[in-house]
Amino acid sequence: MLLLIPGPVQTRPEVRAVMGDDIAPWDDEFRAEYAAMRPRIVRIAGGVEGVDVALPLPGCGHMVVEAAVRTFVPAGGRLLAVRNGNYADRLVRLATEAGRVVVPLPGPDTEPMAPERLAAALEANPDVTHVAVVVSETGSGIVNDPNILGPVIHAAGRRMICDAVSGFGALPFRLSDHPECDVVVFTSNKCLEGLPGFGFAVAPIARLEACRGNAGSWLLDLADVYQHAVANGWGSFRFTPAVQALRAFGVAMDLYDAEGGQPARLARYARNAEVLYDGLVALGFTPYVEKRHQGPIIVNVHQPQDPAWDFGRFIALMKGRGVLISNFWNTAQPTIRIAAIGAIGEADIRFALAQIEAVLGEMGVGLRRAA
Ligand SMILES: *Cc1c(COP(=O)(O)O)cnc(C)c1O
Repeated sequence: MLLLIPGPVQTRPEVRAVMGDDIAPWDDEFRAEYAAMRPRIVRIAGGVEGVDVALPLPGCGHMVVEAAVRTFVPAGGRLLAVRNGNYADRLVRLATEAGRVVVPLPGPDTEPMAPERLAAALEANPDVTHVAVVVSETGSGIVNDPNILGPVIHAAGRRMICDAVSGFGALPFRLSDHPECDVVVFTSNKCLEGLPGFGFAVAPIARLEACRGNAGSWLLDLADVYQHAVANGWGSFRFTPAVQALRAFGVAMDLYDAEGGQPARLARYARNAEVLYDGLVALGFTPYVEKRHQGPIIVNVHQPQDPAWDFGRFIALMKGRGVLISNFWNTAQPTIRIAAIGAIGEADIRFALAQIEAVLGEMGVGLRRAA
């Protein structure tokens, strides 16, 4: 099956192969393997060894997003959330339920947040200490670039929390270029092309020291993950981790380096997204996002207006032809969402486009423009 979804993404057989062994996380050999991964993760985030640390947290991506909010924003603290998409909505909800006061800065899910609007919102809200930015908005496919918004946050004397989950490893970001950044979070899956099972935070040690006791949760306290490593060694876990997924992530990082790291991955995905976008337009679809705002992670098109259109049937017929795409949408209007990420290339995208054309023919969907 060809997975064209923004997580879990298509992985390489070498990555999946190492999942088959029984291993113990506390075994000395695995501890060394794990300890060696942590500085590599810091390097991928553009952090500096000895200044920044990698903090793995078993579980899904939203868990590490919540852990980041809890750890760096004190209970009752005010967090401004750039809110231009479904994943930003999720961040607003989890931060609110964690007892943080969220000041939303809303925008349409079809364009990145303008830096001037963020600057004005920070000026109007002097008691906001942090800004949360969803970098690649996995609902619509737009990108809020931290290299544009970060300097605005820095100039206003506030701190940034980066949910970089869906673009991390492909979109350029260097923690050491962002003195305003408290934490960047991502997962083993998505653009690093590992298996699901781990969230990661990379954060400056100085900030982790300053934020002890903020979290109000033992499990979701990144400062505690850090203190545990200091006290028990960098190969040690607090609780039983998804150990096989972590080993597979090590293989995924080897493949990432061999491909040429971030620039190579971005180039491959950008090409995938371009072929996908242009191919869907050529088939008669209306893109959800204008090309100038289209990021390289996912492409959405409006669902067709043809009376013969049936979303569920389309997804099932695509699956029958070996292509799995999301059977839901996370945009303000009904869309078809197709990912450009994972261990896939242009030939896979062209194969998928051919299947889409065939399925539309089979369904008799001639009128493909937005309703
Ligand atoms: C995938 C993703 C997450 C985490 O999703 P999980 O299903 O919890 O792993 C968080 N933020 C963004 C922007 C994402 O794309």
